[in-house]
Amino acid sequence: MAEAEEERHLRLTGEFDCDPSPLSTVRHSTSHVMAQAVRRLFPGVKVAIGPAIDDGFYYDFAKAEPFTPDDLERIEAIMREIVKADLRFERREMDRVEAIRFFRERGEPFKVEILEGLDVPRVSLYEQGEFVDLCRGPHVASTGEIKAFKLLSSSGAYWRGDEKNPMLQRIYGTAWLTQEDLDQHLWRLEEAKKRDHRKVGRELDLFDFHDVSPGAPFWLPNGWTIVRELERFVRESLDARGYQEISTPILVNKKLWEQSGHWEHYQDNMFKVEAEEQLFSLKPMNCPESTLVYRHALRSYRDLPLRFADMGRLHRNERSGTLSGLFRVRQFTQDDAHIFCRPDQLQDEISGLLGLVREWYKTFGLEPSFKLSTRPVKSIGTDEQWETAEQALHDALRANGLAYDLNPGDGAFYGPKIDVDVQDVLGRRWQNATIQLDFAQPDRFGLEYIDTDGQAKRPVMVHRAILGSFERFVGILTEHYAGAFPTWLAPVQARVLPISEKHGDYAREVWTRLRGARIRAELDDRNEKLGYRIRDAQVRKVPYMLVTGEREKQSGTVSLRHRSGDDLGAVPVDRVLADLAAEIASRSAGLTVGRID
Ligand SMILES: [Zn+2]
Ligand SMILES: [Zn+2]
Repeated sequence: MAEAEEERHLRLTGEFDCDPSPLSTVRHSTSHVMAQAVRRLFPGVKVAIGPAIDDGFYYDFAKAEPFTPDDLERIEAIMREIVKADLRFERREMDRVEAIRFFRERGEPFKVEILEGLDVPRVSLYEQGEFVDLCRGPHVASTGEIKAFKLLSSSGAYWRGDEKNPMLQRIYGTAWLTQEDLDQHLWRLEEAKKRDHRKVGRELDLFDFHDVSPGAPFWLPNGWTIVRELERFVRESLDARGYQEISTPILVNKKLWEQSGHWEHYQDNMFKVEAEEQLFSLKPMNCPESTLVYRHALRSYRDLPLRFADMGRLHRNERSGTLSGLFRVRQFTQDDAHIFCRPDQLQDEISGLLGLVREWYKTFGLEPSFKLSTRPVKSIGTDEQWETAEQALHDALRANGLAYDLNPGDGAFYGPKIDVDVQDVLGRRWQNATIQLDFAQPDRFGLEYIDTDGQAKRPVMVHRAILGSFERFVGILTEHYAGAFPTWLAPVQARVLPISEKHGDYAREVWTRLRGARIRAELDDRNEKLGYRIRDAQVRKVPYMLVTGEREKQSGTVSLRHRSGDDLGAVPVDRVLADLAAEIASRSAGLTVGRID
């Protein structure tokens, strides 16, 4: 689905306003019922638009005061009455000009504006009870078919998303085909709130934000440990696959961006810095600089493919109002790499990347799905280049046995791409990985290799990031795991808890051995009750607790506990050390130490 429902809704030029599937139809119909209820409660309020969206619907209203939670409850109560009354959705058609007069008389300026912008002779209206809306539909037959809905929130929203336009009041709701589906969804929303990475990040001391640098995390030791582990994971995997890591400057003269085309198309998103009367920018991406590394030497067909990984720190000037935790930042680092290859190597390279995507996401228990986007109307490059490239992407997907969706015309102007969504434990989808072919940069930077025939040829450039930005990925993982990271990622992997002060020496000995085995361990010998310290370790989501007392000291064991609360009894220290090291080295998803299976 290339176009958002709300854009479709506003355009009114397709066959339908909204996706005609049963779920979208119910949601769109519920939005009309909500507008009807709002008009009954607040008769003077003007209505704007009300599309179905992912997971629900909204409607925008011109109203001076924001809706209160109390208003939402009253609106919902009226909606239930409307549903109970089982009003039919009646469709009728009208000349556009007549419709303009109709809505003008009813005092609906937004509908008039939409109608004035349309280039069609006739339009359709939907009417249920006293409420009439300009709409292409489709709708359910009558309001009684709406079974399960809930209003969720309200917020300000500009008419047509433009801050120069009046501010409207938007109410968001959700609607489902069955009560069960609605309950499931509300549970997921509740669960997502509990797992919000901003909240969990505070509880576990992962990162912090300060006004002095909006959209740039201050990584605390715990959070930075996770980033370092992810980087290590990435590096180990790439080293084994013939990647070479490079590092390129953050501050770059605008000359480079002029050559790459970013200055022309992207400079509003770049932070600029002046030095010695020259204009520089903080790099928003690594690509142009990697072409300079390519050009460092004369390349032959035998040198290719070259795979340059560059985990450079990037800055993009997002508006401060749009920044949100780790999901929307101004400063970030991607697991970025650029592959330069011959056209005949493309399929193998893409195939290798798809394998990497699957392998990496499996480690995190995230389910990937693939989308192939092909040549847009406005594009550069020859027909032959596009055909070869798109074919290589199709073939690589098929060779990997992957099902994929096709987004015709949704590629970048400089080349086709594969985007990868992952689904987390709550069923939410995140777009992380992208594999993009690029015919433009090699041209702009005059990249060449000497082919078998002695002729200079252009390499193909592949941009790819798999985890995306580490910032965003840590945010996703924090919510996916609800802060209970697998041991290899956990900031603290084990805590040693002496039963009382008397057993302090043995506890210290165990702790020293853990650290000697490079396990991130803490000693909690605070003068607090054991039960309190166990709970504290659980709240901090520490995977393993090693409780030590007299009996353990005598037998060279520890009493092992999992953060889940499982008490696994006495386990020899040697075994805990060996098994823990093995669990970490294998990047196991679950806690395995002390389990007898
Ligand atoms: Zn509608
Ligand atoms: Zn790139």
